[in-house]
Amino acid sequence: MAELRQQDARPHRVAGRPSAVDPAGELAGLAGDCVHCGFCLPACPTYQLWGEEMDSPRGRIHLITQILDGAEPSPAAALHLDRCLGCMACVPVCPSGVRYDRLIEAARAWAAPAGRAGPGAGGPPALLPPRALRERIARAAIFATFPYPARLRLALASLHVLQRAGLDRRLAGSAALNRFLPELAAALRVAPRPGAAGASGARRATTQTPVPAAGQCRARVAVLTGCAQRVFFPGVNQATIRVLAAEGCEVIVPQGQGCCGALSLHGGRTAEAARFARATIAALDGPGIDAVIVNAAGCGSAMKEYGQLLSADPARAERAAAQRAAAFSAKVRDLTEFLAGLGPVAVRHPLPVRAAYHDPCHLGHAQRITAEPRDLLAAIPGLELAEIPDGAVCCGSAGIYNLIQPEPAAELGHRKAAAIRQTGADLLVSANPGCLLQISAALAADGSPMPVAHIAEVLDASIRGLPPRHLLG
Ligand code: SF4
Ligand code: SF4
Repeated sequence: MAELRQQDARPHRVAGRPSAVDPAGELAGLAGDCVHCGFCLPACPTYQLWGEEMDSPRGRIHLITQILDGAEPSPAAALHLDRCLGCMACVPVCPSGVRYDRLIEAARAWAAPAGRAGPGAGGPPALLPPRALRERIARAAIFATFPYPARLRLALASLHVLQRAGLDRRLAGSAALNRFLPELAAALRVAPRPGAAGASGARRATTQTPVPAAGQCRARVAVLTGCAQRVFFPGVNQATIRVLAAEGCEVIVPQGQGCCGALSLHGGRTAEAARFARATIAALDGPGIDAVIVNAAGCGSAMKEYGQLLSADPARAERAAAQRAAAFSAKVRDLTEFLAGLGPVAVRHPLPVRAAYHDPCHLGHAQRITAEPRDLLAAIPGLELAEIPDGAVCCGSAGIYNLIQPEPAAELGHRKAAAIRQTGADLLVSANPGCLLQISAALAADGSPMPVAHIAEVLDASIRGLPPRHLLG
């Protein structure tokens, strides 16, 4: 890291460089909103880690501005942009309202190897210097696997064979693997083990038949089952459906739904994300659907941007398609957001546990949903809610960040694990599968494993009157 920081991160100006990267000047306008006040620096996890200006939001906006002005980005500049978690902690704290989320998504598309990294990466020509070959292969493998549940299920089954033979931990600790294939070593460390919390349940929690509302029907909702959620935590989807039905919702879980495109969108693969978005709208939208419920923070955050995503996609410039996408986005609700707005009708039974709630970045920062999950948990009789110190700091999961940037991700994971231990909680609760995997692995790596649960499972346990051991194991 020290060696990398010593490199010159300043882009080098090249006269006559085309300005096609931002023909409307929209990005330049967004970057120009930054007044360089630095209020965002303390909130930025990578600035906390390294104390480097170019690893802060302000530094990255400076790099983006230079590139928009036609400067030739150096490898170091590309590295500083790649080190951004995309956690969006800098967005809510910015007094000037800088849309860093839009800027970093655009910058990530500059790095995407157009049309060469898997099925239909698409997007504009690569502008940033190419990443190392190993990282490009790792990214291609991730994007060829994670958005496709059948492939992901196959990969997980292979991992479980290694885990049952006790080989995964030996491999993950191998110096050779960590040196030559750190992405694979990281995947072995964070992969869920057979029987992990939320991993139980039918492999496919989908049904053509609507699940009827308990009592009077208050809403008709469609549920996104997700990719990682449905493969790693099928029990979470089942709990989500039960809670919604218990709260008076008719629940539709359409078959044939695929990836929502969140990983692609946050990875700069906008054309691929747009294709996933169109398919998701076609699968989940329909007459009489009051809301589309999402129980994975990263997915919900991306789906709320569909209107923006499809209006920017030149292949779908038709106004009607963009309007439909915007109307769909307006129906997307995180599970906690929806339940808090609906109000409870199902009786909560006592659940005497001390639970620490972790805010997923794409829920707390990107969607500004922090009070709703806490209110839902606090309303459970007997449940004691603990606040995690520095709780707004990312756990290091951040989509695929913990696989492609394993060192800083592991450090953030250790810091989060230490903060969680300070709470004295029996149970860690969150609302995003990536966070649950990352934190669970970090707690175990530090020698203090702790049960983790999705908030849907906690609500479900209380509504069904299950004992704490159902969650605590
Ligand atoms: S992004 Fe916002 S908070 Fe950060 S330096 Fe710019 S204006 Fe200040
Ligand atoms: S998204 Fe997160 S890591 Fe990236 S600049 Fe903002 S606060 Fe820092």
